[in-house]
Amino acid sequence: MNSTVAATPTVKPGYRLMPATVGRTNATSVTVYIECPTWCTEDHVDEPVRDIEDVMHRGDIAAVYVPTFGYGAYPIQMHATVESDPVATEPEFKAAHITVQDAGGNSYSHLTPEMAERLADEVVGFAAQLRHQARTCRLANQVTGDSDPDMDEALRRVRLGASVQSSDIEAMPIDRLLKAFGVTVTEADGNGAELFGEPGAMEFRVGRATRQQLRDSEARRLLAEYAAGARRA
Ligand SMILES: [Zn+2]
Repeated sequence: MNSTVAATPTVKPGYRLMPATVGRTNATSVTVYIECPTWCTEDHVDEPVRDIEDVMHRGDIAAVYVPTFGYGAYPIQMHATVESDPVATEPEFKAAHITVQDAGGNSYSHLTPEMAERLADEVVGFAAQLRHQARTCRLANQVTGDSDPDMDEALRRVRLGASVQSSDIEAMPIDRLLKAFGVTVTEADGNGAELFGEPGAMEFRVGRATRQQLRDSEARRLLAEYAAGARRA
């Protein structure tokens, strides 16, 4: 004689039974067991829903936080999550899909796996362009004299009295070069150009009438001469 046991519910492959809290108020909420996909990391007990149809399955969040030196910590953010809405009428929403949203949850994009792969390719291209833009800024800022590792190294060598290659002197933008050697520019009568002092406290005395371009090339020439002398010494 076979004993009859209550049938245990069979769970679809890729799912497991998980507890969920459902109820209109805390007092009337109940714990039910729902089929939850294995990729779902939502705690359906800690995140109660009003009605069983409100249960959404969600995976872990992948996020890009765009920092700023302006206002607000991360004003632009992009959060991507695997989601599925088990009672959705549209099959794309019912299927596991990717939802991308902004920080405030004000704008949503829903993507099929194919759409997400195309977006991933675009993001890779975006990253390459971003690196290119960073290089553009770094080069532009070198001209205006912001600090960068190459200049810091040249400055360090100059200050230590070590040799500076003439190629460094050729390559460095003039204002960075003057900064590296600690050169103060002064004007004098006439149109000559002279260099005095030691690195860190140098004076480049130039004729008032000398055009900027000539001032720059003279300063570069005199510093190259000085560095060559220091190398020989
Ligand atoms: Zn779930």
